[in-house]
Amino acid sequence: MAYQALYRVWRPQTFSDVIGQGVITQTLRNAVASNMTSHAYLFSGPRGTGKTSCAKILAKAVNCLNPHDGEPCNECEICRAANENRLNDVIEIDAASNNGVEEIRDIRDKVKYAPTEAKFKVYIIDEVHMLSQGAFNALLKTLEEPPENVMFILATTEPQKIPATIISRTQSFTFRRISRQDILERMTYILNDKNIKYDEEALNIIAASAEGGMRDALSILDQALSYGDDELTLKNAQEVTGALSNEQIVSYMTAIADNRPADALTSLYQILASGRSAMRFTEMIIRVCRNLILYNSNSDLSNQMDKSVMTDELLQIADKFDNARLFYIVDQVSATQKNLKNSNQTDVYMEILTVKISEPKIQQQPIAAPVQQHTPEVPAVDNTKVDKLSGEIANLKQEIQQLSSQTNNGNTTKVSKPKPAKRAGGVRVNKTAIYQVLENATKKDLLTVKDIWPDLMSMLSVTQRSIMSVSDPVAACDNGIVVAFDYEMWFEKAQEDHEFIDELTNNVSKLLKKDYQIVLVPKAQWPVVRKEYIDNNIDLSKPGNVESKQEQKKTDPTVDEALKLFGDDGVVEVKDD
Ligand SMILES: [Zn+2]
Repeated sequence: MAYQALYRVWRPQTFSDVIGQGVITQTLRNAVASNMTSHAYLFSGPRGTGKTSCAKILAKAVNCLNPHDGEPCNECEICRAANENRLNDVIEIDAASNNGVEEIRDIRDKVKYAPTEAKFKVYIIDEVHMLSQGAFNALLKTLEEPPENVMFILATTEPQKIPATIISRTQSFTFRRISRQDILERMTYILNDKNIKYDEEALNIIAASAEGGMRDALSILDQALSYGDDELTLKNAQEVTGALSNEQIVSYMTAIADNRPADALTSLYQILASGRSAMRFTEMIIRVCRNLILYNSNSDLSNQMDKSVMTDELLQIADKFDNARLFYIVDQVSATQKNLKNSNQTDVYMEILTVKISEPKIQQQPIAAPVQQHTPEVPAVDNTKVDKLSGEIANLKQEIQQLSSQTNNGNTTKVSKPKPAKRAGGVRVNKTAIYQVLENATKKDLLTVKDIWPDLMSMLSVTQRSIMSVSDPVAACDNGIVVAFDYEMWFEKAQEDHEFIDELTNNVSKLLKKDYQIVLVPKAQWPVVRKEYIDNNIDLSKPGNVESKQEQKKTDPTVDEALKLFGDDGVVEVKDD
């Protein structure tokens, strides 16, 4: 028998087989069991998270001759035909290849005819966002007057590209990235079932590089297994994922920490020579920095560290870095990533980056000065620029020589940790904007925002996610969100990055289908600002009644409002202040 890819062999056949989407599969099961299915569904979410699998299971379940609690039996004629892709009433269309109006018109013409074998005719349209405007219009017409016994399941990785008129006619489900733990468990299950020996760390690396997609995880696992002897080794997993060996990362980061550019460059050359892509390497540096920042920040946050990246060796060099320097490195690396995308001279950019982040003098620059990284995208590499860079690198190499000889002479200049420059007057918090949100804030709005927060995070870049990982939405109304940051420094960094805030705002609007203003605040200042707002409101509503303010606080409707907003916890905090 021909070899079949793991993700095909292990494609879930029932709702309960689907990993990591419990709420969605339970809802669909209930709908099937109670004959309350909708005539149109929209499944959106990142690739490999189970959208198509769920669509196929749903198509089977509504047609199964012996369903059990909303699950297909996988034994009846219909189920068997569906599993073998020969059930004519389940029609799969890949919009990525069938994006013409004609195909959808074809659906419109044929949709009128009753299903031939099964109860329901089910159209599964994958990557539905690829349809042309004309095709969407044709689809909309069909959805507006759905014929009996027809079900549409639209799947997409980019729901924001689907017209609102279509979305409003579907029951919409958002598939989340699958947790690393779930991916690990699934791979372990499969390997045990196949009786294949595996290295735990190898599984960790695969789970990490799959980034929440089960299909990707299983494809990588397939490749790693194809390397050798029915066994999953660490080395094979590293080869396939392009993962850096621990040793390589540790020696690179140690050289950076110790301000030894020459050693850092040597390390870089080794890494590039072993076939790692520059881009992957930069992603790795950012992940390591994120973890070091979490580790250095406080013990609670260190739970969120990515264990597959943070080995004991890396933890041992953690105290060589302070967070200001780590931020600086992340900035430099992300600026370099932009250049890498537009260049085929990636090694040059990596050399410059390495020298920059390992040079002691850089650290002495005030951290508050925003790093110049908003340079316009370079469409193509122009030669003068490369020549200039090559000249610079030659100079830098010379400097390295000098630096390294100094170091070898025992003249190790231990550079003192730069203190984040504290601005006079502290951090600017936009209180007016916060008050505007608080004025109309409701607990319901906050819950809505919290609900989309994980999806929002998944839309951000790694760097942006690492900034946001120490923040939470703390209040929301129907057009504004207050986001509190654990640390003032993170707040400042986010606040100053207009491009970042714009992107955040746009993504929130996409997810919530409405414009929101996003206001940032450091967590330490949040209770203070909130209290000021409540106090002010009491003052405004009862002018001249200041003496009895304490008294009023307990009975004033404004406090009731606050209770509704923040729940009891929030107000207890205010009283204690
Ligand atoms: Zn069946």
